[in-house]
Amino acid sequence: MKIVVCVKQVPDSAATVVAENGQVSWGDAPLVINPWDEYAVEAALKTKEAHDGTVTVVSMGGENAKEALKHALAMGCNDAILISDPALEAVDTQGTAQVLAAAIKKIGEVDMAFFGRQAIDGDAGITPVQTARVLGWPALTLAATIDVEGDTVKVERSIEEGRQTVSAKLPAVFSLVKDYGEPRYPSFMGIRKASRAEIPVWSLADLGIEAPAAVVEWPQIINPPKKDVTCEIVEGGSPKEIAEALVDKILAEKVL
Ligand SMILES: Cc1cc2nc3c(=O)[nH]c(=O)nc-3n(C[C@H](O)[C@H](O)[C@H](O)COP(=O)(O)OP(=O)(O)OC[C@H]3O[C@@H](n4cnc5c(N)ncnc54)[C@H](O)[C@@H]3O)c2cc1C
Repeated sequence: MKIVVCVKQVPDSAATVVAENGQVSWGDAPLVINPWDEYAVEAALKTKEAHDGTVTVVSMGGENAKEALKHALAMGCNDAILISDPALEAVDTQGTAQVLAAAIKKIGEVDMAFFGRQAIDGDAGITPVQTARVLGWPALTLAATIDVEGDTVKVERSIEEGRQTVSAKLPAVFSLVKDYGEPRYPSFMGIRKASRAEIPVWSLADLGIEAPAAVVEWPQIINPPKKDVTCEIVEGGSPKEIAEALVDKILAEKVL
């Protein structure tokens, strides 16, 4: 079983992201592996252990994205590949999908490609299905369970209405949700192995593709308007009085 897992490097969820001179900036906040992608790595490793496979972790980004790859290696992935090219500075999700699909094709004979449900910075949540589209593979998204039997896979999707069971033939693309189960922590041995790992860097030329043209452009990046928040403490002689005063205010503000 040949498995690929795609992980993205993102600013730490505690980061303050601002627009400066039309560019996105997160100051000196640390960069981390996208939290949703840890569930994808966990699912890839569990599937590898159940079906005697290998897991290759792939990321598209700058040199610093190697830290996200090393985190996945320390969790137990077999090898890692960074896709990096100056021409990939401002690609959209469609472009990201084309690049990841080209990498999956170059790795060759891949049976399963795992993704997180979304990236906490771009938050589009569509790169997995767009990658499946480019590959011509089925996409089984929001997976909470994954059962492989021969060349068929059954997935329980975690959707608002509850669970939905779907199945498809491999190869296929999967996106993972938290219901799949807690990701393992990188082991000490894993961290040591990852810190020594040689991570090859593939360019667009190595993938044999041109720089994808953006179909969704970000003509302008601006900060959201500052919300003026005032806080008023409602006082009263008793909880009943406070509650009544609060209701009066809520009604007066036409909130209800
Ligand atoms: C400087 C800059 C300029 C940009 N300009 C544009 C623009 O002009 N137009 C536009 O539409 N978007 C633009 N983007 C956003 C960029 O297109 C998205 O961040 C990227 O395509 C992925 O989308 P997403 O983050 O919403 O991921 P999602 O679709 O939410 O990701 C879902 C899953 O896909 C996988 N994945 C996503 N990205 C990667 C990656 N890089 N490597 C490996 N796996 C990945 C992960 O498994 C992730 O969990 C820009 C981003 C930056 C940083």
